[in-house]
Amino acid sequence: MTLSIVRSVSALRVAIAAFRPGRVALVPTMGALHAGHLALVAAARGAGATHVVASIFVNPTQFGPSEDFDRYPRDEAADAAALAAAGVDLLFAPAVAAMYPGGHATTVRVAGLGDVLDGAARPGHFDGVATVVTKLLLAAAPNLAVFGEKDWQQLAVIRRLVADLALPVEIIGAPIVRDADGLALSSRNAFLTPGERIRAVTLPQALETACDALREGGEVVTTLAAAAAALVTAGFAQPDYVELVDADLRPLTAISAPARLLAAARIGATRLIDNIAL
Ligand code: AMP
Repeated sequence: MTLSIVRSVSALRVAIAAFRPGRVALVPTMGALHAGHLALVAAARGAGATHVVASIFVNPTQFGPSEDFDRYPRDEAADAAALAAAGVDLLFAPAVAAMYPGGHATTVRVAGLGDVLDGAARPGHFDGVATVVTKLLLAAAPNLAVFGEKDWQQLAVIRRLVADLALPVEIIGAPIVRDADGLALSSRNAFLTPGERIRAVTLPQALETACDALREGGEVVTTLAAAAAALVTAGFAQPDYVELVDADLRPLTAISAPARLLAAARIGATRLIDNIAL
């Protein structure tokens, strides 16, 4: 079956109204879809969605001026086919002007959670994320919305803004989907050269090794430094961060529950992020 595609907020609202009184899920993406994205669709069904709406929007406001917005991979036809095969009911694929009409002047900013880690490395990134996710949630007014734990900080920022703005939507976090060797699936993995792809597996491996060491009583600062050193040895640049954090993304210097280990590092021209639960 071919998938219905709508490109304006008004058409989206009309199409979703036809799904009522169903339980509607929104799965926001930037496209270049892989099995990690499709797992979000399955998670939406698992959470009881009767209708799943996916969105594909490469959001310019979450990219810095020197980042990869222009060369971000885009293949709407392949994405639409994958979403149709996954049983998605509707695709929202707006142009930039449909999301940011002339004169657009509103930014949603989540202070604190949006300023650390990737927010520090990519200034303004989470303002763009928070703004577009708020707009998507208001446009679609879904019962639930699904986001991947791959972007752990993004999930925390979204949970915060939904709570703060009392948006009537349930936020579901879905586990990270990985390649056979352990590298987290990412649209940006397509940028890796074959050599970089082989070495990229050091990122999940360094996190696993650090996790094991911490569980066995290793000292936090030393263990994180060893993980960063392993990445550099494998050909990554000095990581933007390798950090153990609590549920509010505050750095931990000793293990407490729940703790999450997060890292971001560049290999060649590609910036990769990953995280694992301790
Ligand atoms: P993106 O298209 O990269 O902006 O991602 C769209 C959604 O898919 C976000 O909620 C991501 O966290 C999620 N996602 C991306 N990669 C994965 C993955 N490997 N496993 C699970 N979720 C993912």
